[in-house]
Formats: sequence, structure tokens, C-alpha cells
Amino acid sequence: MRRFSITTKITIWYTIFLVIITIGFLSVMAYVGNVRASEIARSKLMDHVADASEEIESFGENFIIDEDLDFYEDGVYLSIYTEDGDLLEGRRPVELPDLPALKDKAVVKMHDEQGQTWYVYDSSFEMGNQAVWVRGIVKDFAEQSSFSFMLKLVIIACPALVVIAALGGYIITRRAFRPVRNILSTVEEISRDGDLTRRIDMQDGEVPEASVNSTAEGTASEASAKDEIHKLAKNFNSMFDRIEKTFEKEKQFTSDVSHELRTPLSVIISQSDYARTDEEYREKALEVINREAKRMAGLVNRLLTLSRSDSGRLVLENDEIDFSDMCEMVAMQQEPAASQKNIELTADIEPGIKVTGDDAMLIRIILNLTDNAIKYSRQHGHIRLSLKTAGDFACCSVEDDGIGIPEEDLERIWERFYRVDSSRSEEGSGLGLAMVEALVKAHGGYTDVSSSLGEGSRFDVYIPIRRTQE
Ligand code: ADP
Repeated sequence: MRRFSITTKITIWYTIFLVIITIGFLSVMAYVGNVRASEIARSKLMDHVADASEEIESFGENFIIDEDLDFYEDGVYLSIYTEDGDLLEGRRPVELPDLPALKDKAVVKMHDEQGQTWYVYDSSFEMGNQAVWVRGIVKDFAEQSSFSFMLKLVIIACPALVVIAALGGYIITRRAFRPVRNILSTVEEISRDGDLTRRIDMQDGEVPEASVNSTAEGTASEASAKDEIHKLAKNFNSMFDRIEKTFEKEKQFTSDVSHELRTPLSVIISQSDYARTDEEYREKALEVINREAKRMAGLVNRLLTLSRSDSGRLVLENDEIDFSDMCEMVAMQQEPAASQKNIELTADIEPGIKVTGDDAMLIRIILNLTDNAIKYSRQHGHIRLSLKTAGDFACCSVEDDGIGIPEEDLERIWERFYRVDSSRSEEGSGLGLAMVEALVKAHGGYTDVSSSLGEGSRFDVYIPIRRTQE
């Protein structure tokens, strides 16, 4: 079956609707108009007959008809008859050769040869001791009224009107749908060329030709978001923004992963080359190879955890954990690394806080945060690991007085591979905080950070407290 465009469909429906409405309206008007015109014709007929009777006087056996009496006036023919039905004087329409017998106070409807309607009205009046008949005849006004003429004109002109209305409707609808066509053409261009920087231009309150507009949710877009179509175009643009950002992130992610894996891989390749040729160096080379392979394995494991968390496939143990003991243990474990940098690590832990979760994952969270605190602290600095209850959550905080984080980077530090400035520390891949956030989320918790550059940072993680059922 042939598929019509929306514009054509709307035009067809609109034209059919218009024709039905016009015919219906004209029919009602014609009916009401005709009834009214016939009423007027009949009442005029009766008035003229009554008026004519006043122009007649009896004089003995005879009648005197005033000379002023007009036997044809306003379309009404008048004739005067004796009591016996003999015509005294008058006029009658030639179209009606056969007239009915006189009948008092009755309107008789007749049709001439052309099918036109006429009304005949007779009235008998007492004059002295005899009677006189006045007959009036009028053609039905319905057929002569200007409305009837207009109706005929409209019916004759109807096909032309329909064509004009359909054409006008088609042009208006086509114009109204122009923004939709522009949206469509932009979307088609994007899917054909893969150019995600392309946007639907929404300036001047219209959506003109598709054009390249690399600005995100533009100010002009907001100003011209007038109707549904503009909202649609605006939504398309913000959807393209999101798709472009996701695409860019994916690209960045792939390049970061490749970069991170390439470094240990090239070390492994060069060291194994040495090991083959240099017998003395072999032992040392194997050590380096082992270290780099472990680094790679660690990286791949972290990526795997993150990818599982993305797809909701991260399997967590559901152990009852004494979070207070765990924090104490991590604090003790990190003590040597901290004192190597002459950093004082203090623990301020509320005892007996229990949570439900995965032992290894929770340790990883606290280790990552304390690792960072040590890494980004200065010599002779201070680190405070604390744990307390905060409503339904256990709040574990790691505070340091280290180098801090610039405000503009605070939002991005949770992103994968994002490092504020690689010169701040040689170690690290930028996956530590991304892992913290993913693991905390997997435990039903959330994270928070506050920092000021040069003064220090504070990382808080909130894990739901385990409530024992009484
Ligand atoms: P990295 O492996 O680089 O440490 P993270 O994801 O753990 O990666 O951290 C991301 C970035 O956040 C780091 O590069 C670092 O610049 C900044 N950062 C994290 N923790 C701290 C901290 N305690 N003090 C200062 N900067 C920090």
C-alpha cells in the first residue's frame, strides 16, 4: 500500500472534513432560509389581500374599486371577484393558466410548468348586503431570495473552493512541518556521516536548514524553545550532547587503557630480551617482569571490577563485618608506609559499628583512601582515619593536610583514569577513586569529598549500618 506523507494525510483529512462541514452548514442554512422565505411570502400575500379589500366599496348592486389599487405590487398579483366568482378586475400570472376555485381564508400551494412554487390566497369580504372575493397570488420567495442565489453560486463554485482550500491547507501544513523535516534531515546526516558535533539550529524561533553548531545547550536554543517541535529539537540536541560526551568518554577510556597497558608491556618485552641475551642480568630482569606483570594484572582486575559494577554484575559477599575493627586494622597496616614519609597517622574510631558487605572490597575502599592520603601528603604531615555513625550510615573519613585538590578538579577525580596532575605523584593510574565510588555504591552507600588546594583533603564514605533484628 502506498504510504502518504503526514502533510498529505493531514491535507486529505482536512479537505474531507471541510467539504462535509460546508455541505452540512449550507444544507441547514438552505432549509432554514427557505422556510423563512416562504413564511414571509405568505404573510405578505395575506397583508396585500386585506389591504386590497379596503380599496373596494359597494354601491347598490355594484362595486367601486379605488383607482389607487395596484393589481401587481411587491410580486403579489391581485384580482377581485363577485360573490358568484365572476372576475371584476385584476391581474394574474401567465405561468398559472389553471387556477383553483375560490376558497375562503386558505393558502393553496401550486406549481407552474417550470416547477416553481406559487401560493394562492382567497378571502371573502362582506360589503353591504353582498360579498366580494379578493384573490392574491405570489411566487415563493425562497426561489427568488438572494440567499438562494448565493447557495447556487456556492454549489457551482464548490469544486474550485475545495481545490483552493486543499492547496492552501497543503501549503500551510507543509510550512508547519518544515522544522520536523529539518530535524529529520539533521538526524539523517548524523547517522550517515557519524558527525556527532552536528546540531539542529533553532535560531529565529524556527528550525531552519540543518547546520553545524558545536555549542552544547545553546542560549539561542533556550530562547526559541516555543512549541512542541522546538522542544523536540531541543531534546534532540541535548540527547546528541549526551551521546557525544559518552562517545568521547569511551574513546578516552580506550586510549587510557591502551596507554596504561602499553607501559608495563614494553618493560616486559625489553626485559625479556635482556634476559635472553644477558645471563648475569637474567635474575634481575625476571624480577622486573614479575613486578610489571603483577601491575598489569592489578590494572586488569580493577577494570574488570569497574566493568562488572557498570553492568550490575558485581558479586558481593554478604558478610557481617565489624567495620570498627576493620578500620583499626587498616590504620595499623598503613602505619609503616606513613612513618616512612614521617607522617603521623591517627585513628579515631567509634567501636562496635557493624555493616553488611564484602570484606575484601571494604578493605580496598579504606586502603585506597589512606594510600592516596599518604601519597598526596607532605613530609611530617598528619592523617586522621575516623569512623562514626551518621544516622543509618557508618561514616568513614580520611583526612590529610597534604597538597589538596583544585576546586575545578573536585568533580572529576571520581572519573576513570582522571589524574589531577601526573607530576603530583608518579605512582597511580587514576582508577583508585573510581573503584572507591563503584564499591561504595555497590554496598548501598555514597561518597563525599572536600578539599582546598595546599591545605588538605577529606574523603568521606557512607556505608549503611547493619541493624540486627531483635
Ligand atoms: P591515582 O591513582 O592518580 O591516585 P585516584 O583515582 O586515586 O588516582 O585519584 C585521582 C586523583 O585525585 C589523583 O590523581 C590525585 O591528583 C587526586 N587525589 C586523590 N586523593 C587525594 C588526596 N588525598 N589529596 C590530594 N589529591 C588527591
